[in-house]
Amino acid sequence: MRRRSFLKLGGGAMASFFLPRVGGAVGSTDCIIIGAGIAGLAAGDYLRKKGWGVTILEARERVGGRVWSRADWKGKNPMDMGASWIHGVSGNPIAEQAQREGIRTVPFDYENKAVYHAGGSRITNEEEERIEKRYRKTLKLANGTAEELSRDVSLRETFTGAEKKLGWPAKELASLNFRAHTEIEHEFAASLEELSAQYWDEGEELSGGDVIVPAGLGGIVEPWARGQDIRFSQTVERVGYDRDGVRVKTAQGLEMKAKKLIVTVPLGILKKGTIAFDPPLPKEKMEAIGRIGFGNYQKTALLYDELFWDPELHLFDWDGGATGKEWAEWVNLYPFTGEPALMAFHTAQAAYGIEKMTDREISDAATDALGSALGKKVPRPKDMMVSRWGHDPYSLGAYSFMGVGATPADRTMLGKPVAGSLYFAGEAVSENYAATMHGAYESGLAAGRECGGG
Ligand SMILES: Cc1cc2nc3c(=O)[nH]c(=O)nc-3n(C[C@H](O)[C@H](O)[C@H](O)COP(=O)(O)OP(=O)(O)OC[C@H]3O[C@@H](n4cnc5c(N)ncnc54)[C@H](O)[C@@H]3O)c2cc1C
Repeated sequence: MRRRSFLKLGGGAMASFFLPRVGGAVGSTDCIIIGAGIAGLAAGDYLRKKGWGVTILEARERVGGRVWSRADWKGKNPMDMGASWIHGVSGNPIAEQAQREGIRTVPFDYENKAVYHAGGSRITNEEEERIEKRYRKTLKLANGTAEELSRDVSLRETFTGAEKKLGWPAKELASLNFRAHTEIEHEFAASLEELSAQYWDEGEELSGGDVIVPAGLGGIVEPWARGQDIRFSQTVERVGYDRDGVRVKTAQGLEMKAKKLIVTVPLGILKKGTIAFDPPLPKEKMEAIGRIGFGNYQKTALLYDELFWDPELHLFDWDGGATGKEWAEWVNLYPFTGEPALMAFHTAQAAYGIEKMTDREISDAATDALGSALGKKVPRPKDMMVSRWGHDPYSLGAYSFMGVGATPADRTMLGKPVAGSLYFAGEAVSENYAATMHGAYESGLAAGRECGGG
């Protein structure tokens, strides 16, 4: 049958299907990897060094995927529009690579932060301590109750339940919820309503503190691409597989076969089903793909002629109250790059809202928000960049989270090989370090080892 013949590798008439063609199409290799993000590059680097023939098919015209150092501002440092913090430098392969490559990193101090109310007043230390204490108590109680609940309960339910039980004054609730927004929703790229009460905080953290890379994370990722056979602008749209091997077809007409295939595309792509697997992926894997959440997290980088904010701060929050959460969190890039630039962060529903706006609308909204936060008239940015990960066809969101109904076993299921020829890597597969660069790296290395036999 036709579908079956797509799967059958080599021999007879099918062999010509894979003969090299004018225009760069390729024959066969040992392993094909879909995606030249950190996971794909790590897997490819490992297998290539073991003597395997490896070809990476990448839809974009660049490596790095969700690590994206955009150098649009002439004479300025690139802006990291995807990942920006190396979370925990101890034993972190991304930090180790920075050291090997002689790339400067700068510690990020989350305590060096201000919270502004609408109107420009800064939260006092006393207020800050009270809210922090109450927020921690609320979270502790919410997490304590979650253990006894079914997996279909959201963090919103347990958090609000805990707030009620603890009997916090009604006027304090907005501040507590704002704290949950900046601490939790910004970290997990999802709302409390979307996060699982039981598993939202699943995973581990590396120690050693967080750093950022003034010259951009791209310089750390690119060395892993050295010497690799990467075919850019190749969007895989079809994968045929059985236990003898795989066949892959791209939207651009490239066809390849191999013994093994490592899929590293973002979970958003697997959820949308833009790659047709033949036969379809097993039911249990599809269910896991459905349950694990894939959130949205946006960045707006803003360049100014000069500083008009506190140059010392690393971070500031704007509790705009009723005006929404779109502009809740800002990083001051000045201490890191010496340039008058800010990075605003938008998460969950606010992120989807922002990315539907035009750049002009975003610039207006940023100017209004910043003016309210700082309590003065502020200039419009001289230049800006917006990430729009939710609309990016090769990502369709930012990173994975433990959604309502999901369990850590779903990540294990997602990473499980299929038919002895299909392997899976990428941040969403990482049981301990999902949603991070080091999680993506380790998952790529693990898939490389698994498919390369040790
Ligand atoms: C806004 C944002 C902020 C973040 N902040 C941090 C942070 O501070 N610290 C941190 O550690 N992590 C952070 N992360 C997460 C981190 O960036 C990711 O976990 C990591 O980069 C994922 O790597 P990956 O290889 O799994 O996937 P990706 O980097 O997404 O690589 C997958 C590749 O597959 C390609 N692809 C997709 N579809 C196809 C197709 N059909 N055919 C061929 N190729 C395809 C994509 O173009 C992409 O290059 C952030 C992410 C975002 C979006």
